[in-house]
Amino acid sequence: MPSEGTAPITGRCYCGHITLRAETAPETVTYCHCEDCRRLTGAPVAAFAAFPIGTVHLTPDPGPKTPRGPAVQRWFCPKCGSPMAAVFDYLPGQIYVPLGVLDQAAELPPQSHSHYKAHLPWLEIMDEIPRQTGSNRAALRAAAPGAEEG
Ligand SMILES: [Zn+2]
Ligand SMILES: [Zn+2]
Repeated sequence: MPSEGTAPITGRCYCGHITLRAETAPETVTYCHCEDCRRLTGAPVAAFAAFPIGTVHLTPDPGPKTPRGPAVQRWFCPKCGSPMAAVFDYLPGQIYVPLGVLDQAAELPPQSHSHYKAHLPWLEIMDEIPRQTGSNRAALRAAAPGAEEG
């Protein structure tokens, strides 16, 4: 599991207009197989790094977060449209960054699969990490220091 106190995490969008800096290593990294994430990223499976909210900085400020449904807010690069970060009502206290925008993605292997039940039938990932058929909320929240159960 990534530990706190490692070098800051950095990243950028596709066009380079937005750069990202996180103050700490992610609390956890997870694949997400849900349809929303597939459509958002255009990829057969998405992966995200979860950071404590308030520790991820986007420069320049991409402006107000964009509501995409009642329970999620997302930030995009205003020039190229790359998804840069999201917060979910059901995962309070965390901000999720698409793993692919991070410069250190190679050193941040996912630790779980979320929404595995929704995975594309031809996609086979040979790993031994936990596969949650649904939202994986409990495991994701448990990764946050001081997180309350439930
Ligand atoms: Zn961009
Ligand atoms: Zn998802």
